[in-house]
Amino acid sequence: MKNALILLAGGTGRRLDNTKNTVPKQFIKIGNYNFIEYFLKNLDEKIFNRIHIVVNKSMQKKHLSNLKKDFSKHQIKFVNAGKERQLSSKKGIYSLQKYYPKKVLIHDSARPLASNRLIKRLLKSLDKHHSCAPFIINNDFIKYKSRKNIFIHGKIMNIQTPQAFRFTSILKAHRFLKSNCEKDDTSLLEKIGIKTKFIKGEKFNFKITYLDDLDLYKKLKQNEFRSGIGYDIHRINYNSKKRLILCGVKISHPPLIGHSDADVGYHAICDSILGALSLKDIGCYFNNNNKKWKNVDSKIFMQFCNKQLKIKKYNIVNLDINFICEKPNINKYAKQMKVNISTLLEIDINQISIKATTNEKIGFIGKGEGIAAESIIQIENE
Ligand code: ZN
Repeated sequence: MKNALILLAGGTGRRLDNTKNTVPKQFIKIGNYNFIEYFLKNLDEKIFNRIHIVVNKSMQKKHLSNLKKDFSKHQIKFVNAGKERQLSSKKGIYSLQKYYPKKVLIHDSARPLASNRLIKRLLKSLDKHHSCAPFIINNDFIKYKSRKNIFIHGKIMNIQTPQAFRFTSILKAHRFLKSNCEKDDTSLLEKIGIKTKFIKGEKFNFKITYLDDLDLYKKLKQNEFRSGIGYDIHRINYNSKKRLILCGVKISHPPLIGHSDADVGYHAICDSILGALSLKDIGCYFNNNNKKWKNVDSKIFMQFCNKQLKIKKYNIVNLDINFICEKPNINKYAKQMKVNISTLLEIDINQISIKATTNEKIGFIGKGEGIAAESIIQIENE
Protein backbone atom coordinates (compact mmCIF):
# COMPACT_ATOMS: atom_id res chain seq x y z
CA MET A 1 0.00 0.00 0.00
CA LYS A 2 1.26 3.46 -0.87
CA ASN A 3 -0.30 6.27 1.13
CA ALA A 4 -2.36 6.48 4.30
CA LEU A 5 -3.84 9.35 6.25
CA ILE A 6 -4.37 9.58 9.98
CA LEU A 7 -6.94 12.19 10.88
CA LEU A 8 -6.81 13.13 14.55
CA ALA A 9 -10.28 13.95 15.84
CA GLY A 10 -9.98 12.93 19.48
CA GLY A 11 -9.68 16.47 20.86
CA THR A 12 -12.28 17.80 23.23
CA GLY A 13 -11.48 21.49 22.65
CA ARG A 14 -14.50 23.62 23.39
CA ARG A 15 -12.79 26.99 23.41
CA LEU A 16 -14.88 28.09 20.44
CA ASP A 17 -17.80 28.81 22.66
CA ASN A 18 -17.34 28.04 26.31
CA THR A 19 -20.70 29.43 27.29
CA LYS A 20 -23.15 26.96 25.81
CA ASN A 21 -21.46 24.69 23.30
CA THR A 22 -20.80 21.20 24.58
CA VAL A 23 -19.77 19.72 21.23
CA PRO A 24 -16.03 19.47 20.46
CA LYS A 25 -15.28 21.90 17.65
CA GLN A 26 -14.47 19.33 14.94
CA PHE A 27 -18.08 18.10 15.09
CA ILE A 28 -19.80 21.48 14.86
CA LYS A 29 -21.76 21.71 11.63
CA ILE A 30 -21.21 24.86 9.60
CA GLY A 31 -23.87 24.67 6.92
CA ASN A 32 -24.14 21.04 5.89
CA TYR A 33 -20.72 19.85 7.04
CA ASN A 34 -18.62 19.57 10.18
CA PHE A 35 -14.83 20.11 9.85
CA ILE A 36 -14.11 16.43 9.21
CA GLU A 37 -16.80 16.14 6.55
CA TYR A 38 -15.73 19.37 4.86
CA PHE A 39 -12.11 18.20 4.69
CA LEU A 40 -13.08 14.77 3.32
CA LYS A 41 -15.49 16.30 0.80
CA ASN A 42 -12.65 18.29 -0.77
CA LEU A 43 -9.97 15.62 -0.42
CA ASP A 44 -8.92 14.03 -3.73
CA GLU A 45 -9.88 10.36 -3.37
CA LYS A 46 -6.92 9.24 -5.47
CA ILE A 47 -4.30 10.33 -2.92
CA PHE A 48 -4.82 7.94 -0.01
CA ASN A 49 -5.46 4.20 -0.05
CA ARG A 50 -6.71 4.34 3.53
CA ILE A 51 -7.92 6.99 5.96
CA HIS A 52 -7.89 6.16 9.67
CA ILE A 53 -9.85 8.60 11.78
CA VAL A 54 -8.77 8.57 15.42
CA VAL A 55 -11.82 9.54 17.43
CA ASN A 56 -13.49 8.92 20.75
CA LYS A 57 -15.95 6.05 20.20
CA SER A 58 -19.01 7.79 21.65
CA MET A 59 -18.28 10.92 19.57
CA GLN A 60 -17.97 8.79 16.46
CA LYS A 61 -21.38 7.23 17.08
CA LYS A 62 -22.94 10.60 17.82
CA HIS A 63 -21.40 12.76 15.09
CA LEU A 64 -19.85 10.54 12.42
CA SER A 65 -22.29 7.63 12.14
CA ASN A 66 -22.98 8.27 8.43
CA LEU A 67 -19.44 9.28 7.48
CA LYS A 68 -18.39 6.00 5.82
CA LYS A 69 -21.59 5.94 3.77
CA ASP A 70 -21.54 9.65 2.87
CA PHE A 71 -17.87 9.58 1.87
CA SER A 72 -17.66 6.12 0.37
CA LYS A 73 -15.16 7.51 -2.18
CA HIS A 74 -12.61 7.13 0.64
CA GLN A 75 -11.56 3.94 2.49
CA ILE A 76 -12.35 5.03 6.04
CA LYS A 77 -11.70 3.23 9.32
CA PHE A 78 -12.27 4.50 12.85
CA VAL A 79 -9.66 4.05 15.58
CA ASN A 80 -10.48 4.76 19.20
CA ALA A 81 -8.65 7.86 20.47
CA GLY A 82 -6.16 7.98 23.31
CA LYS A 83 -6.11 10.39 26.22
CA GLU A 84 -3.49 12.72 24.71
CA ARG A 85 -2.70 13.73 21.16
CA GLN A 86 0.53 11.70 21.23
CA LEU A 87 -1.31 8.56 22.24
CA SER A 88 -3.96 9.07 19.56
CA SER A 89 -1.28 9.51 16.94
CA LYS A 90 0.42 6.33 18.18
CA LYS A 91 -2.84 4.38 18.03
CA GLY A 92 -3.38 5.65 14.50
CA ILE A 93 0.09 4.54 13.40
CA TYR A 94 -0.29 1.13 15.07
CA SER A 95 -3.67 0.62 13.36
CA LEU A 96 -1.89 0.89 10.00
CA GLN A 97 0.67 -1.82 10.76
CA LYS A 98 -1.20 -4.60 8.97
CA TYR A 99 -1.55 -2.44 5.83
CA TYR A 100 2.03 -1.16 6.05
CA PRO A 101 1.78 1.94 3.84
CA LYS A 102 4.92 3.49 2.43
CA LYS A 103 3.99 7.04 3.39
CA VAL A 104 1.69 8.37 6.07
CA LEU A 105 0.29 11.82 6.77
CA ILE A 106 -0.91 12.83 10.23
CA HIS A 107 -3.44 15.64 10.16
CA ASP A 108 -5.38 17.61 12.69
CA SER A 109 -9.15 17.70 12.08
CA ALA A 110 -9.20 21.32 13.32
CA ARG A 111 -7.48 22.33 10.05
CA PRO A 112 -10.21 21.56 7.50
CA LEU A 113 -8.84 23.90 4.82
CA ALA A 114 -5.57 22.02 4.04
CA SER A 115 -5.43 21.75 0.26
CA ASN A 116 -4.83 18.73 -1.98
CA ARG A 117 -1.89 20.64 -3.41
CA LEU A 118 -0.19 20.87 0.00
CA ILE A 119 -0.87 17.19 0.69
CA LYS A 120 0.68 16.17 -2.65
CA ARG A 121 3.75 18.36 -2.05
CA LEU A 122 4.28 16.74 1.37
CA LEU A 123 4.01 13.24 -0.06
CA LYS A 124 6.45 14.10 -2.85
CA SER A 125 8.95 15.46 -0.37
CA LEU A 126 9.01 12.03 1.34
CA ASP A 127 10.83 10.66 -1.72
CA LYS A 128 13.92 12.47 -0.40
CA HIS A 129 13.17 12.89 3.31
CA HIS A 130 11.89 10.73 6.18
CA SER A 131 9.85 13.48 7.76
CA CYS A 132 8.29 16.59 6.30
CA ALA A 133 6.05 19.32 7.70
CA PRO A 134 4.61 22.62 6.46
CA PHE A 135 5.37 25.95 8.10
CA ILE A 136 4.38 29.57 7.65
CA ILE A 137 6.23 32.66 8.75
CA ASN A 138 4.42 34.98 11.07
CA ASN A 139 4.85 38.40 9.46
CA ASP A 140 3.47 40.37 12.36
CA PHE A 141 5.89 42.33 14.46
CA ILE A 142 6.84 40.20 17.45
CA LYS A 143 7.78 41.69 20.79
CA TYR A 144 8.99 39.66 23.72
CA LYS A 145 9.27 41.17 27.11
CA SER A 146 12.05 39.53 29.06
CA ARG A 147 12.62 39.77 32.79
CA LYS A 148 15.20 42.50 32.30
CA ASN A 149 12.71 44.57 30.31
CA ILE A 150 14.62 44.10 27.06
CA PHE A 151 12.59 43.85 23.87
CA ILE A 152 13.62 41.40 21.21
CA HIS A 153 11.90 41.12 17.88
CA GLY A 154 12.16 38.58 15.11
CA LYS A 155 10.26 36.13 12.94
CA ILE A 156 8.37 33.14 14.24
CA MET A 157 7.90 29.89 12.36
CA ASN A 158 4.45 28.35 12.78
CA ILE A 159 4.38 24.60 12.19
CA GLN A 160 1.21 23.18 10.67
CA THR A 161 -0.24 19.79 9.91
CA PRO A 162 -0.50 17.57 7.88
CA GLN A 163 2.90 16.22 8.81
CA ALA A 164 4.29 13.55 6.52
CA PHE A 165 6.43 10.55 7.37
CA ARG A 166 7.85 7.42 5.89
CA PHE A 167 5.84 4.79 7.75
CA THR A 168 8.87 2.81 8.95
CA SER A 169 10.37 5.94 10.57
CA ILE A 170 7.25 7.12 12.39
CA LEU A 171 6.49 3.57 13.54
CA LYS A 172 10.02 3.26 14.92
CA ALA A 173 9.72 6.61 16.74
CA HIS A 174 6.46 5.60 18.41
CA ARG A 175 7.79 2.19 19.42
CA PHE A 176 10.99 3.65 20.76
CA LEU A 177 9.55 6.47 22.81
CA LYS A 178 7.31 5.72 25.72
CA SER A 179 6.57 9.25 26.94
CA ASN A 180 3.50 11.07 25.75
CA CYS A 181 4.77 14.58 26.13
CA GLU A 182 5.76 15.56 22.58
CA LYS A 183 3.70 18.34 21.03
CA ASP A 184 3.72 16.95 17.51
CA ASP A 185 5.07 14.03 15.54
CA THR A 186 8.07 15.81 14.02
CA SER A 187 9.40 16.43 17.57
CA LEU A 188 9.02 12.71 18.20
CA LEU A 189 11.22 11.88 15.21
CA GLU A 190 13.84 14.40 16.27
CA LYS A 191 14.17 12.38 19.50
CA ILE A 192 15.39 9.39 17.50
CA GLY A 193 17.69 11.54 15.38
CA ILE A 194 15.54 12.04 12.27
CA LYS A 195 15.47 15.60 10.98
CA THR A 196 12.34 17.09 9.48
CA LYS A 197 12.28 18.87 6.15
CA PHE A 198 10.12 21.97 6.47
CA ILE A 199 8.28 23.16 3.39
CA LYS A 200 6.16 26.24 2.78
CA GLY A 201 2.69 25.78 4.22
CA GLU A 202 -0.55 27.57 3.48
CA LYS A 203 -1.81 30.57 5.38
CA PHE A 204 -5.43 29.47 5.04
CA ASN A 205 -4.56 26.07 6.56
CA PHE A 206 -4.92 27.59 10.01
CA LYS A 207 -6.07 25.78 13.12
CA ILE A 208 -9.59 26.64 14.20
CA THR A 209 -9.35 27.33 17.91
CA TYR A 210 -11.28 30.45 18.77
CA LEU A 211 -14.50 32.07 17.55
CA ASP A 212 -12.42 34.46 15.43
CA ASP A 213 -10.96 31.46 13.59
CA LEU A 214 -14.42 30.09 13.01
CA ASP A 215 -15.52 33.37 11.43
CA LEU A 216 -12.50 33.28 9.12
CA TYR A 217 -13.27 29.66 8.20
CA LYS A 218 -16.84 30.61 7.28
CA LYS A 219 -15.48 33.31 4.96
CA LEU A 220 -12.85 31.10 3.34
CA LYS A 221 -14.72 27.85 2.82
CA GLN A 222 -16.05 27.43 -0.65
CA ASN A 223 -19.78 27.63 -0.72
CA GLU A 224 -21.82 25.42 -2.96
CA PHE A 225 -24.01 27.35 -5.38
CA ARG A 226 -27.12 25.93 -7.01
CA SER A 227 -29.62 27.35 -9.48
CA GLY A 228 -33.26 26.65 -10.21
CA ILE A 229 -35.82 27.55 -12.86
CA GLY A 230 -39.60 27.85 -12.59
CA TYR A 231 -42.36 28.56 -15.10
CA ASP A 232 -46.11 28.86 -14.76
CA ILE A 233 -49.06 29.98 -16.87
CA HIS A 234 -52.76 30.45 -16.10
CA ARG A 235 -55.74 31.40 -18.25
CA ILE A 236 -57.55 34.71 -17.65
CA ASN A 237 -61.22 34.52 -16.62
CA TYR A 238 -62.93 37.56 -18.18
CA ASN A 239 -66.30 36.55 -16.69
CA SER A 240 -65.20 36.79 -13.07
CA LYS A 241 -65.67 39.85 -10.88
CA LYS A 242 -62.66 38.88 -8.72
CA ARG A 243 -59.34 40.67 -8.98
CA LEU A 244 -56.05 39.39 -10.38
CA ILE A 245 -53.35 38.40 -7.87
CA LEU A 246 -49.67 38.51 -8.90
CA CYS A 247 -46.94 37.97 -6.28
CA GLY A 248 -49.51 38.70 -3.60
CA VAL A 249 -50.58 42.06 -5.10
CA LYS A 250 -54.30 42.49 -5.89
CA ILE A 251 -54.66 44.18 -9.28
CA SER A 252 -57.75 45.65 -10.98
CA HIS A 253 -57.76 43.22 -13.87
CA PRO A 254 -59.74 40.02 -14.55
CA PRO A 255 -58.32 37.16 -12.45
CA LEU A 256 -56.58 33.96 -13.50
CA ILE A 257 -58.24 30.56 -13.35
CA GLY A 258 -56.66 28.07 -10.99
CA HIS A 259 -57.23 25.67 -8.11
CA SER A 260 -55.59 28.03 -5.62
CA ASP A 261 -55.54 31.82 -6.06
CA ALA A 262 -53.69 31.20 -9.38
CA ASP A 263 -50.77 33.48 -8.48
CA VAL A 264 -48.44 32.62 -11.39
CA GLY A 265 -45.67 34.76 -9.90
CA TYR A 266 -45.50 32.86 -6.59
CA HIS A 267 -45.95 29.54 -8.39
CA ALA A 268 -42.97 30.19 -10.69
CA ILE A 269 -40.82 31.32 -7.74
CA CYS A 270 -41.77 28.19 -5.76
CA ASP A 271 -40.80 25.91 -8.63
CA SER A 272 -37.44 27.66 -9.03
CA ILE A 273 -36.67 27.17 -5.31
CA LEU A 274 -37.76 23.53 -5.39
CA GLY A 275 -35.69 23.02 -8.55
CA ALA A 276 -32.56 24.51 -6.98
CA LEU A 277 -33.00 22.10 -4.05
CA SER A 278 -33.47 19.11 -6.42
CA LEU A 279 -37.00 18.61 -5.13
CA LYS A 280 -40.17 17.92 -7.16
CA ASP A 281 -42.50 20.56 -8.64
CA ILE A 282 -45.04 22.44 -6.53
CA GLY A 283 -47.94 20.27 -7.77
CA CYS A 284 -46.39 17.23 -6.07
CA TYR A 285 -46.58 18.89 -2.65
CA PHE A 286 -49.88 20.74 -3.15
CA ASN A 287 -52.06 18.60 -5.39
CA ASN A 288 -54.64 20.32 -7.63
CA ASN A 289 -57.24 17.69 -6.72
CA ASN A 290 -56.90 18.23 -2.98
CA LYS A 291 -59.79 20.37 -1.66
CA LYS A 292 -57.50 21.60 1.09
CA TRP A 293 -55.72 23.89 -1.41
CA LYS A 294 -58.91 25.17 -3.09
CA ASN A 295 -58.82 29.01 -3.39
CA VAL A 296 -55.92 29.07 -0.96
CA ASP A 297 -53.53 32.06 -0.72
CA SER A 298 -50.34 31.04 -2.58
CA LYS A 299 -48.18 32.59 0.13
CA ILE A 300 -48.46 29.26 1.98
CA PHE A 301 -46.57 27.62 -0.93
CA MET A 302 -43.88 30.30 -0.63
CA GLN A 303 -43.63 29.67 3.12
CA PHE A 304 -43.33 25.92 2.44
CA CYS A 305 -40.48 26.54 -0.03
CA ASN A 306 -38.69 28.90 2.36
CA LYS A 307 -38.87 26.17 5.01
CA GLN A 308 -37.28 23.69 2.58
CA LEU A 309 -34.38 26.14 2.07
CA LYS A 310 -33.91 26.34 5.83
CA ILE A 311 -34.04 22.56 6.29
CA LYS A 312 -31.37 22.06 3.64
CA LYS A 313 -29.39 25.05 4.97
CA TYR A 314 -29.37 27.22 1.86
CA ASN A 315 -29.67 30.97 1.50
CA ILE A 316 -30.99 32.84 -1.52
CA VAL A 317 -28.35 34.79 -3.46
CA ASN A 318 -30.77 36.41 -5.93
CA LEU A 319 -34.13 35.88 -7.54
CA ASP A 320 -35.11 37.08 -11.03
CA ILE A 321 -38.77 36.98 -12.07
CA ASN A 322 -40.14 37.67 -15.51
CA PHE A 323 -43.82 38.14 -16.36
CA ILE A 324 -45.06 37.58 -19.88
CA CYS A 325 -48.40 39.31 -20.57
CA GLU A 326 -50.03 42.04 -22.63
CA LYS A 327 -51.77 43.52 -19.57
CA PRO A 328 -51.56 44.70 -16.79
CA ASN A 329 -48.53 46.99 -16.64
CA ILE A 330 -46.38 45.02 -14.20
CA ASN A 331 -43.95 47.89 -13.50
CA LYS A 332 -46.69 49.68 -11.59
CA TYR A 333 -46.86 46.80 -9.06
CA ALA A 334 -43.21 45.63 -9.03
CA LYS A 335 -42.28 47.51 -5.84
CA GLN A 336 -45.11 45.98 -3.79
CA MET A 337 -44.39 42.53 -5.28
CA LYS A 338 -40.77 42.80 -4.09
CA VAL A 339 -41.91 43.77 -0.60
CA ASN A 340 -44.23 40.72 -0.45
CA ILE A 341 -41.54 38.34 -1.71
CA SER A 342 -38.84 39.73 0.59
CA THR A 343 -41.16 39.31 3.60
CA LEU A 344 -42.13 35.74 2.74
CA LEU A 345 -38.62 34.56 1.82
CA GLU A 346 -36.85 36.68 4.45
CA ILE A 347 -34.47 38.29 1.96
CA ASP A 348 -33.50 41.83 1.05
CA ILE A 349 -35.44 43.70 -1.63
CA ASN A 350 -32.16 44.25 -3.52
CA GLN A 351 -31.92 40.48 -4.06
CA ILE A 352 -35.14 40.49 -6.09
CA SER A 353 -35.77 41.57 -9.66
CA ILE A 354 -39.22 41.86 -11.26
CA LYS A 355 -39.33 42.30 -15.01
CA ALA A 356 -42.03 42.00 -17.65
CA THR A 357 -42.41 41.66 -21.36
CA THR A 358 -45.37 41.43 -23.70
CA ASN A 359 -45.71 38.70 -26.27
CA GLU A 360 -45.97 41.25 -29.10
CA LYS A 361 -49.63 40.20 -29.61
CA ILE A 362 -48.42 36.81 -30.85
CA GLY A 363 -50.05 33.55 -29.77
CA PHE A 364 -52.46 33.00 -26.86
CA ILE A 365 -50.59 35.28 -24.46
CA GLY A 366 -50.47 37.94 -27.20
CA LYS A 367 -54.23 37.63 -27.61
CA GLY A 368 -54.63 38.25 -23.87
CA GLU A 369 -55.85 34.73 -23.01
CA GLY A 370 -53.36 34.14 -20.22
CA ILE A 371 -50.47 35.36 -18.08
CA ALA A 372 -47.17 33.51 -17.70
CA ALA A 373 -44.31 33.96 -15.26
CA GLU A 374 -40.79 32.55 -15.12
CA SER A 375 -38.30 32.64 -12.27
CA ILE A 376 -34.61 31.92 -11.91
CA ILE A 377 -32.97 31.62 -8.53
CA GLN A 378 -29.45 31.15 -7.20
CA ILE A 379 -28.91 29.74 -3.71
CA GLU A 380 -25.80 29.02 -1.63
CA ASN A 381 -25.24 26.77 1.35
CA GLU A 382 -24.56 28.37 4.72
ZN1 ZN B 1 -49.92 27.98 -11.08
